Amino acid sequence: MYYFDKINSKRILKSDFIKNTQIFFTTKESYIKTKDETCYNITQENKKDICKFLNVKNLISPQQTHSDNIALAQNITDYPNTDALIVTRNDFAIFLNYADCTPVVLYDEKQNIGAVVHAGWRGTAQSIATKTLSKMGSNPKNIIALIGPCICFNCFETNFDVISQLKKTLKDTKGLFRENYADLKGINQRQLMEKGVEKIDVCPYCTCCDNELFFSYRKENKTTNRISAILKLN
Ligand SMILES: [Zn+2]
Repeated sequence: MYYFDKINSKRILKSDFIKNTQIFFTTKESYIKTKDETCYNITQENKKDICKFLNVKNLISPQQTHSDNIALAQNITDYPNTDALIVTRNDFAIFLNYADCTPVVLYDEKQNIGAVVHAGWRGTAQSIATKTLSKMGSNPKNIIALIGPCICFNCFETNFDVISQLKKTLKDTKGLFRENYADLKGINQRQLMEKGVEKIDVCPYCTCCDNELFFSYRKENKTTNRISAILKLN
């Protein structure tokens, strides 16, 4: 179940599936990413607060190009043309930025390794979440997966070509498609389930329906503000 917590009085979203590590999603109050110069100071302040809270100097993110490229975060550097980042260390945090796309966070309790995955429709059509799971070398039974706030079934209207690409990633597509609509949260959930992941917490919030809380690219005229999924291992 998802619940709100706060960092320096600004709301973040967490899941009670996660006990032994820090994983959360930022909101419109705590966001750390923008291309809008007028919001730059806010995001820098928030970033400082989050680094302090996590006790790290650096937050590392992939550059996100809707690819299915997956990297292991080893250095404080950019990860160009990368959409999923795996972390095995606890001296920095990793994060992912998005506004509508599906964020998937994977945490392996046994090995204490984690990953953030950018699964917009293109990433989802390339099964990037399950590819990341394979690359982590994890037993799916030890994985806790969080599917964070993102565009919901009712809000994600697309076309026949996209629907058919998404359908190809699943054995069982029941309940996940309706006319030109696709349930991206549900598709990512089922891709993981079909690989044997059992513990999956799917966020009920939608970036469009709950737009007062989260940024939406579709609803906010291509905003460059982003919410983030953040992970730091203990
Ligand atoms: Zn919605």
